[in-house]
Amino acid sequence: MRYIFENGNSNKDLQKRTNYTLWMNSILRRSKEIGKVELPICSMILDERGRCIGRGVNKRNINKDPLGHAEIMALRQASLIKNDWRFNECTIITNLEPCTMCSSALIQARMGKVIFGAYDKKRGGLGGSIDLSKHESAHHRMEIIGGILEDECSQILKIWFKKMRTRK
Ligand SMILES: [Zn+2]
Repeated sequence: MRYIFENGNSNKDLQKRTNYTLWMNSILRRSKEIGKVELPICSMILDERGRCIGRGVNKRNINKDPLGHAEIMALRQASLIKNDWRFNECTIITNLEPCTMCSSALIQARMGKVIFGAYDKKRGGLGGSIDLSKHESAHHRMEIIGGILEDECSQILKIWFKKMRTRK
């Protein structure tokens, strides 16, 4: 299931797509850095004016925290800055499709828009494996755009998993 821009020809959509690509490139750079110690995943939350109000990287190993996914880290930081738990006018950008835990957290946070790179067919919670945003338990509807710089995003993860396998 894909949610990529159906009217990709209009200038406004093109502009949006360029912005998402720029943010995604920045996320990929951060992911590569964190990839030395953790699964290379990074998330950013933008407010209604496009300013970054939260950033998170995967910190499961560093913090010994099963909830230490990049999206949760970014949500915690952005909640502090916003002093609010509601994110209706915000956008989260992340290189891998959020897992079911993070997808649920984004629904709880009433996130306005979710943009991600690679689909996760095994654990993705927004269409890759299961689509929690469309489940009847979801009380909030989010705009979801997957597949931004999809190849680059999957590549980073593939390389990381390959490295981990050869390390063992
Ligand atoms: Zn997650």
